[in-house]
Amino acid sequence: TPPRASLAEFWLPFTPNRDFKKAPKLVARAEGMYYYDPQGRPIIDGVSGLFASAAGHGRAEIAEAVGQQLRELDFTASFYRSHPLAFTAARAISELTPDGLDRIFFVNSGSEAVDTAMKIVLAYHRARGEGQRTVFISRERAYHGVNFGGVSLSGLVNNRRAFGGVATPAPLLRHTWRAESVFSHGQPDTGADLADDLLRLIAVHGAENIAAVFVEPIAGSTGVLVPPRGYLERLRAICDAHGLLLVFDEVITGFGRTGRAFAAQSFKVRPDLITMAKAITNGAQPMGAVAVDRRIHDQIVHSAPEESIEFFHGYTWSAHPAACAACVAALDIYARENLFARGAELSAYFQQRVFSLADLPAVTDIRAYGLFAGIELAPAGKPGERGYRVQKELFDAGLHLKTTGDAAILAPALIASPAHIDEIIDVLRRVLVCHSA
Ligand code: PMP
Repeated sequence: TPPRASLAEFWLPFTPNRDFKKAPKLVARAEGMYYYDPQGRPIIDGVSGLFASAAGHGRAEIAEAVGQQLRELDFTASFYRSHPLAFTAARAISELTPDGLDRIFFVNSGSEAVDTAMKIVLAYHRARGEGQRTVFISRERAYHGVNFGGVSLSGLVNNRRAFGGVATPAPLLRHTWRAESVFSHGQPDTGADLADDLLRLIAVHGAENIAAVFVEPIAGSTGVLVPPRGYLERLRAICDAHGLLLVFDEVITGFGRTGRAFAAQSFKVRPDLITMAKAITNGAQPMGAVAVDRRIHDQIVHSAPEESIEFFHGYTWSAHPAACAACVAALDIYARENLFARGAELSAYFQQRVFSLADLPAVTDIRAYGLFAGIELAPAGKPGERGYRVQKELFDAGLHLKTTGDAAILAPALIASPAHIDEIIDVLRRVLVCHSA
């Protein structure tokens, strides 16, 4: 193998991975709950790769399905000339989504799903003769991907700053329940009235100009912020009262993370659209999708000709045959192994073990729901500095997970055993015990 530095030399990740070129930390193989580095050292995966490998790594059924599909039909542009497996995949997804959200638009990533959902929302309002509804509302600390629509919705100023003027910032709902929900197991009991902040934005912008509200049911990559009981219900009620569409970005929470197929079902709130990606193929192929309420689809497609506008949108790789094969095989594994229920069952033990870290001086907050947890660390130095260091130390100690700022994020695969959870928590304790408050 060539020396590491020269391997990285020709690749420009353009990410905050500051010392990538100096000391790249590579993985070369993966199986089940483990990554293996190029030297063969096992590293347990605490975050399903990046919220994708819900059924664990290296699933032979998926590899076989993809290989077979590539031999049978390697490519067709689906919006132009589709193929049977695209319909099979759409149907399999629609069987998991809340009732009525059964029109599935295929894309290739979470970011594309978000931008696509924004366009569908706009097309819907236009078709209803309400084309002035163009204001999108999102939340502080929201992450909705890196394309221009999603960057406009971002509640992270850093994600938007360099693109000012092109990415228009959306009005942001306040998102301040963290102070009230320190060390909250599941949904905090108080704070539902924070949803009333939407009324403030409606007063400022005019309900008749607002197109939709985008939320991650659990804000994922910004630290696992679980909504208070009643909060999402209240958002839904306000949207209904004012003709706003509600979009759940379930790119992370989709496919079992919260104990049900989608967080919409865990929280019993039905959005109008759901964006998804990541675990849709168990991570084995790039794919995303938007599940659309069939009434929205019908309105766009069947509106009177003078009111309708062409919904011109689609990607060459939408519903790529290999991605559809991976999707159908992955969803088949989730069903056959009853993985959403299995994850729900494991979540009590998982959360108990995660909360056992609360005694460490460096841990200032823990939030958890389902098989999903955020561990907030006391900052040391610049914001994010400790999180960055901890993430590297954990990898060296044999654990792969994500940190955002100073929060460590855990999202183990739904196939994890209690022994895997123990191993993850043991490495975390061993590393975090060396960090002071
Ligand atoms: N939305 C949410 C809620 C996400 O967490 C992410 C990625 N972490 C995205 C969108 C973007 O997905 P992708 O990286 O596949 O474009």
